Amino acid sequence: MSSPATLRPLLEGVHRVPEITSDGLQWTVRTPQHARLAVEMVLAWAATEQRMPGRLRPCANDECRLFLLDRSRANRARWCSMAVCGNREKARRHYERTR
Ligand SMILES: [Zn+2]
Repeated sequence: MSSPATLRPLLEGVHRVPEITSDGLQWTVRTPQHARLAVEMVLAWAATEQRMPGRLRPCANDECRLFLLDRSRANRARWCSMAVCGNREKARRHYERTR
């Protein structure tokens, strides 16, 4: 995982503006069009980190590009999905044991 500082260029030109809507005042994030998706991901990541610190991490399967959000009490989840990556790891270990 690279340092959060590498995300900084993505946040250039992003600002939050107050808008009056029929529901009252609302804060809207204004993002340069080309960076919208990346910025949304950064903001979602930051919000998750704030709400559940240390719970968001990459899947332990090196070939997997997914992340997992660990909601367990022990905070030891390693796989994005036990059914997919967890099982693959179990099968791999089994294969190595029985070789
Ligand atoms: Zn995975």
